[in-house]
Amino acid sequence: MDKIIYLDNAATTAVSSEVVYSMLPYMIEQYGNPSTSYSLGREAREVVENCRNRIANILNCDPTGLYFTSGGTESDNTLIKGIAHCYYKKDNIIVSNIEHPAVLQTCKELEKEGFTITYAPVKRDGLIDIKELEKLITPQTKLISIMLANNELGTIEPLEEICVMAHKHKVLVHTDMVQATGHMLIDIQKLGVDSFSCSGHKFGAPKGIGLAYIRPGAKCKPFIVGGGQEQGFRSGTENVPAIVGMTVALEKATKNMTYYINRMNTLRELFLKELSGVKYKINGSQKYVLPGTLNISFPRVDGENLKLYLDSKGICVSNGSACHSGSVEPSHVLKAIKLSDNYINGTIRISFGDNTEKDIQYVAQCIKEYLKEIK
Ligand code: PLP
Repeated sequence: MDKIIYLDNAATTAVSSEVVYSMLPYMIEQYGNPSTSYSLGREAREVVENCRNRIANILNCDPTGLYFTSGGTESDNTLIKGIAHCYYKKDNIIVSNIEHPAVLQTCKELEKEGFTITYAPVKRDGLIDIKELEKLITPQTKLISIMLANNELGTIEPLEEICVMAHKHKVLVHTDMVQATGHMLIDIQKLGVDSFSCSGHKFGAPKGIGLAYIRPGAKCKPFIVGGGQEQGFRSGTENVPAIVGMTVALEKATKNMTYYINRMNTLRELFLKELSGVKYKINGSQKYVLPGTLNISFPRVDGENLKLYLDSKGICVSNGSACHSGSVEPSHVLKAIKLSDNYINGTIRISFGDNTEKDIQYVAQCIKEYLKEIK
């Protein structure tokens, strides 16, 4: 296979040479442990704090509430369990029913501990109805966790309005921003969330690095304990090279945001134009959506076979969420938006990135060929 056409950037992204080169000095020369007090260690500490400030500056949040973790799953576990464990075991947490397993499985564990979990439904467009969400709040509700952008649909939830409503009831709000970070401009002060999770590998950093944020003043118990790094909130030696890489990747994504959004929209429009004459359905809101994510269903088609066919042509797409691939269950997100089985089975997720117009035309052509072949 001479060329891969990668259309699965919601699963993970390539690391640019700029990001790789930014990390190298912190492996080869300045490899000190940031917790040591000689100059090599002090330099590493300075780099970590400098990165924390640069990221806080981009996201407009308080750097003293920002902690480095191994990624989205750890951050979701840490923050949701950490907040819950500051309250009584019978208290209530509300999550949307389209959250990533990193949130849903965390809540399942809290349920076993005695917490009650309420699963808030979304509308057919994948968005939360705030009035309906408000009705679910009880005096025991302590936390609402709603993702900023959904990993399968790309839909963007109305977090600003959710926070205003939740705070009126003195309920904290956590958001999983794993898919959103680096793909849309985010202002935490404006959004108003109390905590959030991010993952570097979704926006051009290496795998195994992420962020957990808890607003200073909000209570959250540490999850990983040990040497007391990260102000005792997340023990374990900081991954200095990956922290640097994530900072550079986020700065790069933020700087290029206008270009990125326009480019994603161009590729998306071209792809749909190239599919003219084909019967398909696009899932989720098309107004509040990440520009690079397209969840599309072809009726009476096996999405898994379509994915494999495209793979044989050198094209990478997803037919569910890569984080829980291998699961034979139909997507809980597509079920939540009440898509019929006929469409669920024929769904693929295309997440655009550094693709050319020619790539996109070729992919649409391959899909058309496959549909013709199976007819
Ligand atoms: N949350 C969402 C919305 C995701 O899409 C993912 C991964 O796809 C995760 C959490 C898990 O992140 P990580 O792979 O960094 O553990």
